[in-house]
Amino acid sequence: MKEIKNYINGKFLAPVSGDYLDNIDPSRGKVYSKIPNSTKADIDLAVDAAENAFPAWSNMPKDERSAIMVKIADLIEARMDEFAHAESLDNGKPVSLANHVDIPRAVSNIKFFATAILHYAAESHYMEGVGINYTLRKPIGVVGCISPWNLPLYLFTWKIAPALAAGNCVIAKPSEITPMTAFMLSEVCAEAGLPAGVLNIVHGLGQNVGDAITRDPKIKAISFTGGTSTGATIAKIAAPMFKKLSLELGGKNPNIIFADCDFKKALSTTIRSSFANQGQICLCGSRIFVERPIYEKFRDAFVEKVSQSKVSYPEDPEAKLGALVSEPHLEKVLSYIALAKEEGGTVLTGGERVFLEGEYAGGYYLRPTIIEGLAFDCRTNQEEIFGPVVTITPFDTEEEVLMMANSTEYGLAATVWTENLSRAHRVADEIHSGIVWVNAWLVRDLRTPFGGVKNSGVGREGGFEALNFFTEPKNVFIAKG
Ligand code: NAD
Repeated sequence: MKEIKNYINGKFLAPVSGDYLDNIDPSRGKVYSKIPNSTKADIDLAVDAAENAFPAWSNMPKDERSAIMVKIADLIEARMDEFAHAESLDNGKPVSLANHVDIPRAVSNIKFFATAILHYAAESHYMEGVGINYTLRKPIGVVGCISPWNLPLYLFTWKIAPALAAGNCVIAKPSEITPMTAFMLSEVCAEAGLPAGVLNIVHGLGQNVGDAITRDPKIKAISFTGGTSTGATIAKIAAPMFKKLSLELGGKNPNIIFADCDFKKALSTTIRSSFANQGQICLCGSRIFVERPIYEKFRDAFVEKVSQSKVSYPEDPEAKLGALVSEPHLEKVLSYIALAKEEGGTVLTGGERVFLEGEYAGGYYLRPTIIEGLAFDCRTNQEEIFGPVVTITPFDTEEEVLMMANSTEYGLAATVWTENLSRAHRVADEIHSGIVWVNAWLVRDLRTPFGGVKNSGVGREGGFEALNFFTEPKNVFIAKG
C-alpha cells in the first residue's frame, strides 16, 4: 500500500511519531494508502528548514524564482492525467471534472503567480519640496497554508503559489482526507529544483499539524481555507500573536432567478452550480430563489433534469456526480435531509443514498437532492450543508428576495439571473457577499479579489490581493535636502 511521506527540507520523511493514518478511497469506501500522522515535532523540523531557506529564496532575483515555479507548473501539466486520476481517487469526484477543472486550474494558479510577481510594483509618494516616500513590499518570512478537501490541489496551490512567488518560505498542510496530489506536488517540486526548505508539506490531522502551525510563533502569517468554526479556532489562537490571517470559510450561497432570465441558460447553469463536485464547492448555490411567474416551470424542468443526472463511479465518463468525500460527510449531509423533512420540506427528487454494484458497493454516493416548501429562516436554509442538496423557494419582489438571500450568517458568493441590466446592477450591489455572478457561475479571472463577507471569511485571495497579503509594506521617506 502506498505510503505518503512528508516533504521537509527537500527530503521525503516519515513522521517523527512513526504513525500513519488511513487514507480512504470514497468511491469504494476502502483504505488505499497511508498518510503520516505528523505532530508538532514535524512542524518544528519544517519551520527550521524554512527559516534556513528564507534568506536565499527571498533574495533570489524574481525571474529566477518565477522560472522555478513555471517549471513546477509545466511538470504538473505533463502529468495532467495522472494528477487527475489521483485527485479523483482521493476525493471521489468524477475524473472528467478533475481533468477539466481541478488540475488545469492548479497549473494556472502556479503560472499566474509565477508571472504576476514580475509585474508587481511598489508605490512611491512624492511630496513637493519635502521629499519622497517609497513603499517596499517585503516577503513576510515563514508562512503557513492550510487547505480543505473539496478542491485539494486547486486550493492548495491558490495559497502556496502567491506565498512562494512573493519570496516567502512555506509550511503547507493539505487536508488529511485528500493528501495525495499534495504529495505528488512535493515530488514535482523536488524534480523542478525548488531549493530545499522553501516549501515544506506536512501531512496529518488538523488538531495536530494545523494546530502546531497556528501556534508556532515563527510562522508569521496563515492563509486558511476551510470551515467557519475551524477558522474561528485558528483566529483565537493566532490573534494574540498578531499573525497576519487570511480566512476563506463556509458559505450558504443564494441563486436568484428572475422571471425575465434566459431560461435555458439559467436552468443548465443552476444544475452545475448546485451539483458540480457533488455540491462540495464553496461557491455552489444551495438556496435557489425563483420569481413566482416562472417558479413552477423552472422547478419542474430543474427536477426533471436533475433526476436524470447520472451518479456513478469517478472513472465513468458519463458520471455527473461521483462519491461524497467521506462516510462522516455523507452522514452529515443525510442528517440535513432528515432535518429538512422535519422542518416541513418536501423532497422533490433525490434524498437517498445510491448503492453501486461490485467494487463500488461500499462507496459514499448520494442522489442529487432538491427540497421545496421550507421557510427561508429554518436551519436547513441557514446552515452550510456542503453536499448535493439544494432548496428551492418562490419570491414575489426584489426586496423580499434580497431579505431572504441576505438572511444567513454567510456571505461568500451569489448568482443573479436577469436580462434587466439595471436590476442586475441593483441586486448585485445589495447582496451581502464577496462575489456576485450575473448570468454566469464560476467564471474565474485570477486577477479578481476572491473571498467572503460576514462568517465567510476575512481578507481576499487572488491577484495582487494575494501578493499584498504575503508581503509586508515598509514605507521609506527620504528628505529632499
Ligand atoms: P475543515 O475546517 O474541517 O478543515 C480545513 C483544513 O483545516 C484541513 O486541512 C484540516 O486538517 C485543518 N484543520 C482542522 N482543524 C484544525 C485546527 N484546529 N487548527 C488548524 N487547522 C485545522 O474544513 P473541510 O471540511 O476540510 O472543508 C470544508 C469547508 O471548507 C466548508 O465549510 C467549505 O465551505 C469551506 N471552503 C471554503 C472555501 C472558500 O474559499 N471560502 C473554499 C473551499 C472550502
